[in-house]
Amino acid sequence: MNYLSVRGQSAPVGFREALVAGLAPDGGLYVPRFIPKLRRDILENLPDKSLHDLGREIAQLFIDDIPNDDLNRIVQEAWNFSIPLKQLDDRIWLLELFHGPTLAFKDIGARFMAHVLSHYLRRESRQLSIMVATSGDTGSAVAHGFFNVPNINVYVLYPSGKISRLQEQQMTTLGGNIHAVEVEGTFDDCQKLVKQSLSDARLRKRKFLTTANSINLGRLIPQTAYYAWAVAQYQRMVGRKEPLTFVVPSGNLGNLTAAIYARGMGIPILRFVAATNINDGFPNYLRTGVNASRTSIQTLSNAMDVGDPSNFARILAFYKHDWPKMRSEIEGVSITDDRTLAEMKLTYEKTKYVLDPHTAVGVEAARDAIKNGARDGMFIVAATAHPAKFPDTVLKSIGRNVEIPQQLLQAMQKPKRSTRIPASIDQLTDILMR
Ligand SMILES: *Cc1c(COP(=O)(O)O)cnc(C)c1O
Repeated sequence: MNYLSVRGQSAPVGFREALVAGLAPDGGLYVPRFIPKLRRDILENLPDKSLHDLGREIAQLFIDDIPNDDLNRIVQEAWNFSIPLKQLDDRIWLLELFHGPTLAFKDIGARFMAHVLSHYLRRESRQLSIMVATSGDTGSAVAHGFFNVPNINVYVLYPSGKISRLQEQQMTTLGGNIHAVEVEGTFDDCQKLVKQSLSDARLRKRKFLTTANSINLGRLIPQTAYYAWAVAQYQRMVGRKEPLTFVVPSGNLGNLTAAIYARGMGIPILRFVAATNINDGFPNYLRTGVNASRTSIQTLSNAMDVGDPSNFARILAFYKHDWPKMRSEIEGVSITDDRTLAEMKLTYEKTKYVLDPHTAVGVEAARDAIKNGARDGMFIVAATAHPAKFPDTVLKSIGRNVEIPQQLLQAMQKPKRSTRIPASIDQLTDILMR
């Protein structure tokens, strides 16, 4: 498989090069030349497949230069936790993606990427610096995924004061090869700094740099596996093969892009609901055909506070800029904080299930889609984070606390270590050159 830049000004590359480069030399995101189809015998026998079977089969289609045995080991080691599908009510199911070490779905892509990179780097002497901008959960997932991986330094850029203390503790307390950079600005500023440093020729000459944001294919591709796995579990549990609608709580649109790719690979998916908070640029685009990037607004579902989603370019490329086709397959729904809180309360009262605010945006969006006359069939909401990561919001909505898992308690007690900088490339360069 070859990978092309969405801007079309860079030469095609293999997976390894796309992974290490992060961004193509022309500044565009890499996309696969085409979306490969899963083999018929796999698609027809989904209920017999495990998460690791599906992960390996999918990885094989996208990665030519790693032997199958190694890919098998990589998915087993990266995904050493479960991703269960649970029924919430008569139309809505939850795919719990938050059982990894940092309790959010980003562990799944970040850990896969870390294991693949360490496979590629095992005979190298160079040090690779990985840059990552985070609006909350990416930073900790990447930091934990790469912690103590030889030959790798991670720089996590996060917006000062705009993430929860728990989230901050999770990425500033590891130390070692993990460097936390607290940026005086927004998430979009952090993202811009990462893009700037990656396209800075002078810096790249001296440093072996890449990114592990959701713009990196190494995180995006493995995320397709859990959509296949959700369908496999559904078919096994229900004994039917009807196509399902996936509801994806969205910020940078990486998770949604992975769902779209999974469908392209032949996984039976009917439609998508892109659920956002009031940072509603993508739902707006679906409605109007006009894309306007804007400054992000802070909400309770802060990992989705994105004004200018990076994977939008990939979705446009997938649909070849065909807006009518895109909106016939994807419904955009934007949910306010008030509705998020109300949904958390409602779900808890009806089922005793505690939703985190991001997943609540998805569940509330699913209810909208159902109300808007959505055809029959089941809605599977990507449950993107564990509620314990958002104790204040949980307390406010349901009037009680959820138990804090052990890994969070430990992070809370360690001292924070980070370097605070203004949103300027010069200051960042100083840190990288240390
Ligand atoms: C990152 C994140 C999202 C948004 O995912 P994208 O791939 O950026 O659209 C949603 N929920 C949680 C909990 C996240 O951490």
